[in-house]
Amino acid sequence: MSRIAFLGLGHMGLPMAVNLVGAGHDVHGFDLVPSAIEAAKAAGIPIAESAVDAVADVGVVITMFPAGKHVIDAYQGGLLAAAKPGTLFIESSTIAVDEAQTAHALAVDAGHRSVDAPVSGGVVGAENGTLAFMVGGSSEDFDAALPLLEAMGKRIVHCGGPGLGQAAKVCNNMILAVSQIAVAEAFVLGERLGLEHQVLFDVAANASGQCWALTTNCPVPGSVPTSPANRDYQPGFAGALMAKDLGLALQAIEGTGTDARMGMLAQQIYAAFAAGDGAGRDFSGIITDIRDGNV
Ligand code: NAD
Repeated sequence: MSRIAFLGLGHMGLPMAVNLVGAGHDVHGFDLVPSAIEAAKAAGIPIAESAVDAVADVGVVITMFPAGKHVIDAYQGGLLAAAKPGTLFIESSTIAVDEAQTAHALAVDAGHRSVDAPVSGGVVGAENGTLAFMVGGSSEDFDAALPLLEAMGKRIVHCGGPGLGQAAKVCNNMILAVSQIAVAEAFVLGERLGLEHQVLFDVAANASGQCWALTTNCPVPGSVPTSPANRDYQPGFAGALMAKDLGLALQAIEGTGTDARMGMLAQQIYAAFAAGDGAGRDFSGIITDIRDGNV
């Protein structure tokens, strides 16, 4: 059993913390927002007076914050100083690769252990304990984090050194964004050529066009009954989150001087989607904008 401080008890953090309690760990937490604190208390997670108080006497600190600046500010604002030397910091927010590397260096300089462990799988995966974790850090720190990650997820991959968990996440989501746009464009083109949706689906799903964006997240209703297209594009994976992740991809593309024009175009397309009515819709709803000529 580990004694764990879980900081950031929002949509993702609270169900993750609940799964750690279910696996027999001694978990307490903290959040800045009163409604999150109340929801955590109702779910049986004891709440500390502050984030600094929460980390003072634990072996593991897990953070699940909105963005990188929250992580760095919290680390520098007293968390690292308040934790016992050798505390394992598991940083699970989705943040930029360079921010993850900065957070790791700050933690190690303060005498702690650290892994970046961003997730995919969304709120449903967090609730069901079926998240995928992409982990960056040393083998020793990965091994130490593994039993805790297994309590919250199903697929745990050690991606390499510090920051490479975030790198894997950003690269995967860039593939996803580009392929979702490509599938949507193909359906709209097929419509204009007189192809039935189901016919195109049957051909592409069994040919070289096969991909998750088609066979799980199909952007037209009917062919995959569980895809968001069948419920007016209720997420799923919201456009705002895709736009955020592509912003991090763009940062990485520019930082490395990579020629990634498809990724950069996808970033522009989803930034506009999220700035319009797409923020709260599933990102496969991009097909509506393509059909309407609004991309
Ligand atoms: P959220 O906004 O619901 O929760 C984040 C929580 O962190 C908030 O309650 C906020 O008050 C709290 N917080 C911020 N700074 C804090 C601090 N210093 N101390 C304590 N609490 C603090 O966000 P979420 O949907 O739970 O997402 C969390 C992270 O997971 C994000 O980085 C997001 O990109 C990533 N993510 C989300 C999803 C999803 O489907 N929601 C999927 C994969 C990854």
